[in-house]
Amino acid sequence: MNEFCDLHTHTIASDGSDTPTELIKKAKEVGLKAVAITDHDTLDGLKEGYEASKKYEVELVPGVELSLLAPRGNMHLLGYYIDQNSKELNDVLKSVQDARAKRNPKIVEKLNRLGLKITMEELEEMAQGGQIGRPHIARMMVEKGYVKSVSEAFDKYLKKDGPAYAPKSILKPKEAIEAIHAARGVAVLAHPISLDPNPLNLLDEFVSEWVGYGLDGIECYYSEHTPDFTEYCISLCKRFGLIITGGSDYHGKAKPHIMLGKGKGNLQIPYSLVDGIKERWQKLYG
Ligand code: AMP
Ligand code: ZN
Ligand code: FE
Ligand code: FE
Repeated sequence: MNEFCDLHTHTIASDGSDTPTELIKKAKEVGLKAVAITDHDTLDGLKEGYEASKKYEVELVPGVELSLLAPRGNMHLLGYYIDQNSKELNDVLKSVQDARAKRNPKIVEKLNRLGLKITMEELEEMAQGGQIGRPHIARMMVEKGYVKSVSEAFDKYLKKDGPAYAPKSILKPKEAIEAIHAARGVAVLAHPISLDPNPLNLLDEFVSEWVGYGLDGIECYYSEHTPDFTEYCISLCKRFGLIITGGSDYHGKAKPHIMLGKGKGNLQIPYSLVDGIKERWQKLYG
């Protein structure tokens, strides 16, 4: 029997629109054996995730997605099976959360100056106590009729170096990988396409450097990866002795075109990749 999983999802603890319980229930409905909750810069969704995982009999892979200072494009690092009580990791999360909290009012101010009236209070209400991210701002812009879609909000205003962009990342790749390892986690480069690796061999150079810091794997299967790019990532994993992972980056309403476990429709992530992460964990810490 073919069994599937999704190793990259967001809940209301960051910028997804499902509660952890709703997410796990959905995972059950679409027939996934395991799902990872990988909220941006927070572990807050994991406790409820574990409870729902028991209730709905879907395996939870505890995770986190750290925002990094990218050498190019955007860089995110996934951490799996992290120890939620790690002081080192929680200190790093706190510093990134502080940077995020300082960044958001700057984006709102830029939008206000451009004539788009959005307040921090409205965003806080939408985020329900979770980490506020650009997808919340984009959803608010759609709700208010300033743009037609979340994608348009990013393209016209919120994308890197767009007219309402403000940076927030402060973590360097080495520090981020070390923080995941300090929490006895497995460190995986998220969606390498976002590094904008053009020409492709730029990715080889980046990965080679990060392997030197202890990088464990690459998210090869991803909603926005072409089959060729996925194959390229898999070949890098083989060359550098890294594990392969995959995920949809499901966000619910914040990315309405991405489906849990299925991405844009044709994503299929074999459950065997979860075994790969567990084996890596055993090698590192077992
Ligand atoms: P932030 O952490 O607040 O900088 O926001 C990052 C989030 O914005 C990630 O979840 C991205 O997937 C999402 N994002 C970035 N670019 C786009 C885009 N063009 N369309 C939709 N979502 C995007
Ligand atoms: Zn997100
Ligand atoms: Fe990401
Ligand atoms: Fe993500």
